[in-house]
Amino acid sequence: MSCLFCKIIEGSIPSTKVHEDELCYAFADINPVAPTHVILVPREHLASLDDTDPDHGEMLGHLLLTAAEIARKQNLTNGYRIVINTGEDGGQTVEHLHLHLLGGRELAWPPG
Ligand code: 5GP
Ligand code: ZN
Repeated sequence: MSCLFCKIIEGSIPSTKVHEDELCYAFADINPVAPTHVILVPREHLASLDDTDPDHGEMLGHLLLTAAEIARKQNLTNGYRIVINTGEDGGQTVEHLHLHLLGGRELAWPPG
């Protein structure tokens, strides 16, 4: 298995775990761009959001609900942002679908 995030999920590459359940794993980003920067990944390997179909609806909903749960646990009461970079123009660098949870500071809009 050559996928970085699959290796993080299986534990062969260490990570700081934030949450795990049967569908997903969440861990601290190694290069945080905000005081809270958590990556959530489905346990199932999918290269990007562009590879999903309606069968992935439950998993995708679960990722969003879990991100909101983590945000509440981390007391991001002033707000936060969920980002799914997709493909080259989207700035995706790791080809395993993932969701960024960013919070703890005011975030600029539009993104660069
Ligand atoms: P992308 O740019 O693909 O949306 O996001 C990939 C994210 O994965 C980046 O924010 C990057 O810092 C993070 N990342 C890359 N390699 C590792 C790693 O080995 N461990 C952790 N915890 N995060 C990583
Ligand atoms: Zn993977």
